Amino acid sequence: MTKIIKCAYCNGIGKDPFELHSSISNCHACNGTGQIEVDEPIHKCIYCNGSGINPIGAKISCMVCNGKGFNHYISDIVCDKCKGTGKWTDGWPCSHCNGIGFL
Ligand SMILES: [Zn+2]
Ligand SMILES: [Zn+2]
Ligand SMILES: [Zn+2]
Repeated sequence: MTKIIKCAYCNGIGKDPFELHSSISNCHACNGTGQIEVDEPIHKCIYCNGSGINPIGAKISCMVCNGKGFNHYISDIVCDKCKGTGKWTDGWPCSHCNGIGFL
């Protein structure tokens, strides 16, 4: 099942949220459509807390969900390396679960 969701990174606007001054800059997470197709089941991206924005602080989209704010996974096994947070202690995505928090 494919579901259409609002792009988290640009909040459905279709423009890059960090380049609002130049209105030609389309959101790369959704290619400027403001919407994203995801396969179900979807879960809020634990790494960026659903914001679609890289929590490390750089003005880029989340490395884990690519700005969608959601991830597609079926597992309910919590990653034992990051304890389901998706992050290492330095803030980078957990390489064991790829930042998803589940295996
Ligand atoms: Zn977008
Ligand atoms: Zn994310
Ligand atoms: Zn992990």
